[in-house]
Amino acid sequence: MSAASSARQILTRLHEVMAGRHHAQHKLDRVVDIIADSLTSEVCSIYLLREGELELFATHGLNAEAVHVTRMAVGEGLTGTIAKNIETLNLAEAKAHPDFLYRPETGEEKFHSFAGVPIVYRERAVGVLCVQHVEPRRYEEVEIEALQTTAMVLSELIAHKELVDGEEAIDLDEIPTECEVIEGLTLVKGLAAGQAVFHQPRVEIDQVVAEDIEAERQRVYRAFDKMRDQIDAMGREPEFGKGGEHDEVLETYKMFAYDEGWSRRINEAIDSGLTAEAAIERVQQRTRMRMREIDDPLLADRMHDLEDLSNRLLRIVSGQLGTAATQGLRRDSILFARNLGPAELLEYDRRRLKGVVLEEGSLTAHVVIVARAMGIPVLGRVPRVRSRVSEGDEVLVDADKGAVTLRPSQTLLEAFDTRFARSRERAAAYAELRDVEPFTRDGTRITVMMNAGLRDDVSALQLTGADGIGLFRTEFQFLVSSTLPARERQMRLYRDVLDAADGKPVIFRTVDIGGDKAVPYLDNDTAEKDENPAMGWRALRLSLEREGLLKAQARALLEAATGRQLSVMFPMVAEPWEFDAAKAIFEEQVQFLRDRRKQMPESIEYGCMLEVPSLAEVLDILLPKLSFISIGTNDLTQFLFAADRANPKLAERYDWVSPSILRFLARIATQMVGSPVRIGVCGEMGGRRLEALALMGLGYTRFSITPAAVGPIKELVRKVYLPDLTAQMQRWMISPPPDMREALSDWAITNDIDID
Ligand code: PEP
Ligand code: MG
Repeated sequence: MSAASSARQILTRLHEVMAGRHHAQHKLDRVVDIIADSLTSEVCSIYLLREGELELFATHGLNAEAVHVTRMAVGEGLTGTIAKNIETLNLAEAKAHPDFLYRPETGEEKFHSFAGVPIVYRERAVGVLCVQHVEPRRYEEVEIEALQTTAMVLSELIAHKELVDGEEAIDLDEIPTECEVIEGLTLVKGLAAGQAVFHQPRVEIDQVVAEDIEAERQRVYRAFDKMRDQIDAMGREPEFGKGGEHDEVLETYKMFAYDEGWSRRINEAIDSGLTAEAAIERVQQRTRMRMREIDDPLLADRMHDLEDLSNRLLRIVSGQLGTAATQGLRRDSILFARNLGPAELLEYDRRRLKGVVLEEGSLTAHVVIVARAMGIPVLGRVPRVRSRVSEGDEVLVDADKGAVTLRPSQTLLEAFDTRFARSRERAAAYAELRDVEPFTRDGTRITVMMNAGLRDDVSALQLTGADGIGLFRTEFQFLVSSTLPARERQMRLYRDVLDAADGKPVIFRTVDIGGDKAVPYLDNDTAEKDENPAMGWRALRLSLEREGLLKAQARALLEAATGRQLSVMFPMVAEPWEFDAAKAIFEEQVQFLRDRRKQMPESIEYGCMLEVPSLAEVLDILLPKLSFISIGTNDLTQFLFAADRANPKLAERYDWVSPSILRFLARIATQMVGSPVRIGVCGEMGGRRLEALALMGLGYTRFSITPAAVGPIKELVRKVYLPDLTAQMQRWMISPPPDMREALSDWAITNDIDID
């Protein structure tokens, strides 16, 4: 008999039992009879987890008195071992196994052979299904397959409380699981606690037993077709085709999507009587079990890709396509994803989203910048974390220390609470600095402005006491919109921002779309063709060509700032003429409004980002044209090091506190001495204490940083005696120490400056 037909026989009979109007225990008793009979086994027993122990819930062949009496701990005896390791055991001689434990009340001494499979729900064992035989022989592979399929159906029935009585029902939320601490890379510092939520939620399977096998087969065929189309389309996205990590993943996706073996196994599972959803899950479960036996990180990575794809197939087949954001967060949540785009993150409810854990991610990827702006701690580079956590698990994110704790114990929870309290105290101490002006010990006033991009961010101005907004990323409004924001909508946002700033300076940067800030409504004919989007048709390059876009933005800004100061900054300027061209578009709009005698801003000033290294070589030509320059260290470093800022593999490779970057910045600072043009730094670098210290030592006194860093940087400034720092940095720029970060940290400690 094939695995499919023996499983189908069992499932058909199970289906009949489930349709009956008997109470749960009776059904369970019938289930063990059916399985024993179908596999011609003398014994079939079901153990289920209750109050942390495995209890014999039903048996065919063992002493009936043992039911609800025999109990064992997870990890104890053969049954406990199966549950603990989530593994299948198939033994010709049970007593010969080192974990065998004899329970006299069951009367099992006469049985020699033993096979058991875990009953798994949400990747945890909630019970064990086993069969025993007098004759000492191993069970056939087909019999084990049938047992596993049956166990899967049982798990769904148990989860839906169809096989256990209300008060007997195992509380699935109480399934004991071990606490686990996994390390990652801190992308946004902070502490957070909440319930695990997957960005792409796991599909809940409602029906496991098929009513019409042919119909289920057709559903899977159609889902495979759709999935293959999606994957082929993915290959045409701009981030692919560059030979990076993305491409490896895509290749693996393709390999699996077109793998005949995978679709055949799913079809076989359907043959055994499962619905399309249950069949996909069944095949995946079997793969997971096999993976537990193989300890090969490379293979594990590939299996993780298969897991992703299997979820995708499940989502297609079940029509459950939305992300967790569309379903809405119900509690304080920690979001888990392989990676996210900035727009995807912005779809979440900011009140409930407490932390993010990514399997990939890098420090200056825009999603991380957005999270930083939202004050949401992010931990990245946590490999395969989604296979170690289940949705609904309690999670603690300690992005200060770079670790995530899954299912914390009581002791860990208490320790975390203490740290939470301490970090609140620290935040309160920073809040006290709100009205304190940041002067260094020698009396130099450092300007500490903040970066923003969303309407809500602006409230941080009052909370932090920042000197203004040194970088308003106008493209964020474009990112959160499904269509190009109309001029009027842009104008309202800019006006609200200026109102909220209440006289403090605001620098609006014109849209920086492209790179990892792709907007779907512009992508079709733009970034899609870019081989290297970060160096491609983005930011000002795009705005100058799509003149209508920049004209509309210019008008929106001019109208928003009537009667007030307007500061405009252009991103990604690589040559001075680009600045001239952009300014000309603005001036054209100024003239247009003047001609119509419209109200105008009180004054208008222009500046640009310095983030393309070429611009540093032509500062003498550029400076007479503008009022301010802001160094965008995020892009600048990616171009200096030729290291994609969004590539997680390079996330930790290069250091901002390194001679190459610092010398480059030192040269610019020297050229600026005596110039009336203001120069500042607005990249993420300036918001980190050690990096800010280095920048101050090079002569930088204007910073625009993420709001959460304003307090810590103000505190830092007040500890610094600038002449000493400058002298030290000058010496190091001539002759850099072997480890610049270490040397500067030591210097800071010696000078009583806290750089954590
Ligand atoms: C930068 O590149 O440093 C910068 C501030 O701009 P963005 O991060 O938006 O590219
Ligand atoms: Mg930039």
